[in-house]
Amino acid sequence: MLVPKRPPAVLVLLDRDGVICKNRFPGVLKLEDFEFVPQAREALSLLNRPGFKVAVVTNQPCLDWGELSWETFGYMNAKLASLARDAGIPRENFRILFCPHTPDENCSCRKPRTGMLEQARAELLPDATSVYMVGDKVTDIEAGISFGQAHPSLTLKTTLIIWDLGDQPEEQVEESRKRGIVPSKVAASFMEAIYWILAQGHNSQP
Ligand SMILES: [Mg+2]
Ligand SMILES: [Zn+2]
Repeated sequence: MLVPKRPPAVLVLLDRDGVICKNRFPGVLKLEDFEFVPQAREALSLLNRPGFKVAVVTNQPCLDWGELSWETFGYMNAKLASLARDAGIPRENFRILFCPHTPDENCSCRKPRTGMLEQARAELLPDATSVYMVGDKVTDIEAGISFGQAHPSLTLKTTLIIWDLGDQPEEQVEESRKRGIVPSKVAASFMEAIYWILAQGHNSQP
C-alpha cells in the first residue's frame, strides 16, 4: 500500500546584506544602494519547492541610529518581497524579519543572538526538521550554531559566503579561524550556497 508522504520541513534563513543584496558600509542606507547580487532571483527560485520556507533575518542598526529611514527601509522590504514573488515563492512561505536595534540596546534579536531565528521558526515552520543559516559574517554563523544548540532535535547547518560583495571577507575568514566558529560550508556566492543546501538531501518524512 502506498502511504502518502509528507514533504520535508526545511527552513532556510538568509542574512540580507552581503547575501541577497550587495553589502555597503556602514549599511545600505539609500534605495539606490539596495542592489541585488547576481542570480539572486534564480537562487531564491530554487528554494521554491515543497516543504521549504524562507526567511530573511537582518540586523539593521542604522534604523535606530537614524541613518536609515523607516520609509526607505519599507521600500527595500517591498522590493525584496517582490523579488521573492518573482522567484515564485508563495507569500505564506516567505518572511522578512529585522532587528532595528543598535548593539547598545542589548536586544535579544540582534545576531549573533537568536531572537529572529526563533521568530522565523515559530511563524513559518514550527515543525522544521532542517534549518539552514546563510550569511556573510561570522556572527551569522554564530547565531545559527546557537540556534542549533537550543534545538538539538533539528539538523542545523550553516553556510558562510565569502565574496567581495560581502562584509570584509578576509576578516570573516580570520575571525572564523581565530574564534573556532566553523561553518558547515564556505561558499563563494549566494547561488553556490543554495546549490549546496539542495545537495544535502531532504527526504520526505514518513
Ligand atoms: Mg551580512
Ligand atoms: Zn534587536
